[in-house]
Amino acid sequence: MLLKKKGQKMREKPRENCAIFGVTCDDLGYSVSKLLYQGLIALQHRGQESTGISILKTGGKIFTYKKNGLVSKVLEDKIISQYWGNVGIGHNRYATTGAVGYKSTDYMQPFHFKNNEIEFSMAFNGTIANFDEIKKNMDNMGRVFITDTDTEVMAQLIGSIALGTEDWPEILRLASRILDGSYSLILMTADGDIYAMRDPLGFKPLCIGELKSEQRNIYFVASESCAIDVVGGKLLRDVKPGEIVHLSHQKDIHSELIIKTNKTAICQFEYVYFARPDSVIDGVSVAEARLRLGMHLAKNDPILNNHEIRENAIVVPVPDSGRGVAVGYAKEANLPYEEGLMKNRYVHRTFIMPGQLKRKIAVKEKLNPIKNVVNGKDIILLDDSIVRGTTTQQIVSLLKEKGGAKRVHLRISCPPIISPCYMGIDFPTKNELIAGRFRNLYGEKYLEEIQKKIGPDTLLYQTIDGLTNAIGKNKNQLCLACLTGNYPLKSVQKLAELEKSIVKSRA
Ligand code: SF4
Repeated sequence: MLLKKKGQKMREKPRENCAIFGVTCDDLGYSVSKLLYQGLIALQHRGQESTGISILKTGGKIFTYKKNGLVSKVLEDKIISQYWGNVGIGHNRYATTGAVGYKSTDYMQPFHFKNNEIEFSMAFNGTIANFDEIKKNMDNMGRVFITDTDTEVMAQLIGSIALGTEDWPEILRLASRILDGSYSLILMTADGDIYAMRDPLGFKPLCIGELKSEQRNIYFVASESCAIDVVGGKLLRDVKPGEIVHLSHQKDIHSELIIKTNKTAICQFEYVYFARPDSVIDGVSVAEARLRLGMHLAKNDPILNNHEIRENAIVVPVPDSGRGVAVGYAKEANLPYEEGLMKNRYVHRTFIMPGQLKRKIAVKEKLNPIKNVVNGKDIILLDDSIVRGTTTQQIVSLLKEKGGAKRVHLRISCPPIISPCYMGIDFPTKNELIAGRFRNLYGEKYLEEIQKKIGPDTLLYQTIDGLTNAIGKNKNQLCLACLTGNYPLKSVQKLAELEKSIVKSRA
């Protein structure tokens, strides 16, 4: 899980690896499957490889349907009408673990656990860092696993604990003591209860909402609040780090804080890139955070004091990821915002083509500079992050060579990414991260070397203070591990140190 597996794709942008959505309704004659469909569609950006739902049918039987593909392809009308029940959970998956067998339904979620004594279905977003160790212990106890995923390890662990007690909050509390990782989890029991749990550091977002009418009360749990908006619900609040929330179609919502911490580690990348701008995560609007990220860059940008550049400058986003920050930058700098790059929405697989030449062709197919806009201009180009650097290099060269830009000033809303993520985000290794590699090679001069390699006339990254201020949370509330190399989980810190020593020995 923590190392790249055979068959895993080489992407330019880091990928989130899942979305979860659950619904419970007190009207036994009402089916929640259409709501599951709508919620999962709203969360499609978090995972596009497979879709799955589990529905509790009247009489206490759980039925699960999952398949490779987007929500709209998998949950066709006939499936929606066939899977009929008043409680259900759903999942969108982007595989980081078990990539070799990712086409098998065994690797998809929800994970439907069933033996003679117990039945439940669960779905989660995250990564269990110590899953190998837990699996080994359970193997020794005679447990048989059908996959090599942390999802199954988690389900088997919960299933084992459930043999000793029927108290679900207690089962989850005990499981959370053993699990070391980042996880937001939803679990549906055969009694029709949904439990939502967020890990003690709160890496992954999770929120609850409601939709009340005279006919029925509906409760939701979702990875992001945009899904609750889309189904017409009202966001109630975030699930707190370390909290278990019980959503019951009979008893409304109950909560239990299992682990209280004064430190959290909410993934900063949710605000920078992953989450939909119309979501609110832990009280912060993602759209507003991106706007402030752009404004902060402009406030600290020395080129805005250069009269010649300023007179000739336009602010251009890399579509779509740079738009929010570009608007903020243009507003603060009082410069025109222009769409200078046209994106072809029908080219879907640009960044997974192997080889430099193929990737170069693919970028040209996907992005084209709008000459009338960029020709002769000083382009202040905004993007959210630089990962490998190869695509950014292509975009800079397209703007200059094909678009005729006079100069390109690259502005990045995320500070340099120097270390991989071991908390569930699909990142390249340290050696493939341009900032990680160049920092090892060139020390303090690494940013100048990145600029030379990628080719803009000037380059400015966000600072870590700029990032935390824009998000409106402090360093004790956010995970910044990919920017600092300091990991909030003990088992992950060890692994990171091991990789660091391998990179050093290769440098
Ligand atoms: S290492 Fe980076 S991408 Fe991973 S959880 Fe932390 S902030 Fe998010």
